[in-house]
Amino acid sequence: MARPAMAEIDLGSIRHNFQCATSLRPQGRTLAVVKADAYGHGVAEVTGALADLTSAFATASIEEALAIRAVGLPHPVLLLEGFFDAEELPEISRQGFWSAIHHDWQLQQLERAVLPSPISVWLKVDTGMHRLGFTPAQALDAFRRLQALPHVDRIVVMSHLANADVPDSPGISVAAQLARLPREFTEAGVELSLANSAGVLAHELACRQWQRPGIMLYGASPLAQQNPHSRQLQPAMTLTSRIIATRWVEPGEQVGYGGRFIASRRCRVGTVAIGYADGYPRQAVEGTPVLVGGQRTGIVGRVSMDMLTVDLTDLADFTKADVGTEVELWGKNLLATEVASGCDTIPYHLFTGVTARVPRVYSGNRCP
Ligand SMILES: *Cc1c(COP(=O)(O)O)cnc(C)c1O
Repeated sequence: MARPAMAEIDLGSIRHNFQCATSLRPQGRTLAVVKADAYGHGVAEVTGALADLTSAFATASIEEALAIRAVGLPHPVLLLEGFFDAEELPEISRQGFWSAIHHDWQLQQLERAVLPSPISVWLKVDTGMHRLGFTPAQALDAFRRLQALPHVDRIVVMSHLANADVPDSPGISVAAQLARLPREFTEAGVELSLANSAGVLAHELACRQWQRPGIMLYGASPLAQQNPHSRQLQPAMTLTSRIIATRWVEPGEQVGYGGRFIASRRCRVGTVAIGYADGYPRQAVEGTPVLVGGQRTGIVGRVSMDMLTVDLTDLADFTKADVGTEVELWGKNLLATEVASGCDTIPYHLFTGVTARVPRVYSGNRCP
């Protein structure tokens, strides 16, 4: 028998979630963000499953975009941070990729470039995230410089929302970010792209010509407070393993490294074949939820590299909590959001952290 840790990926759920995004915001177009190996779900399988639904994908680099070409898909791919080196530009042009332009160094290199055919550019404006983009004051000039280039055939203006997921964030609001966009763009009918998943799910005003959802496609909601739309999402990844040992631990005995857990009563402990080298965070606190044979309980003691330990003491049915019993770490029946909060992180980090040694097993409708 093989080591039982695996990530089941339901491609039908990813299709469902994409369709949630498009039916929620029919006024614009939706591209599928598949950076970081489709948030850990496998870029070849995910892009294949979405190929007939989406008109474009988005990745963080040309290398990630070329992985989509490698499976034979012809879609445009937006490079969310553009190029890192001007040497990428001819390949971007040949492949029909779209490049973000977020800084003057990129604009200068694009101005000097000689390209086999014109490219589409997404001009990034910094409306308050303060990570990438031209200031609102510089943006119009940058737009005109791009317009003057014969090898730029289309310009979309994009910005990124910093706090669309938290309703009463102390940070800049979505409305305040929108107000910083130069009016000339909206008045001239320039194509705009502002909404990430949180924008799609909760901010109609941010939904313009192009939506850019990522995390919601994988079935996790970024919203701090759920709404009817976020409740329709279906988790796509279910991370499971099995119990490989059980034991009784006497009061006063410790479990795992460092003695973080000390039994205050007689405890039944199950050892599960999954650990931080599989991507289950070592930061998980005592009691971080798990499902053992469908029964809810929590982890005890520190997560090890290849194993973790769970509390079986109060489970009603020990026959469903024994060697061989399946354990769900997160997925269809236990939201990654909830597990992430026990690990001081977010579902994005859990999904992208699942390591290569965990086999991905696919189910659900592929592209018809
Ligand atoms: C990752 C990313 C997105 C998708 O964000 P989600 O929160 O996963 O929906 C959208 N736009 C940009 C620029 C990104 O980098």
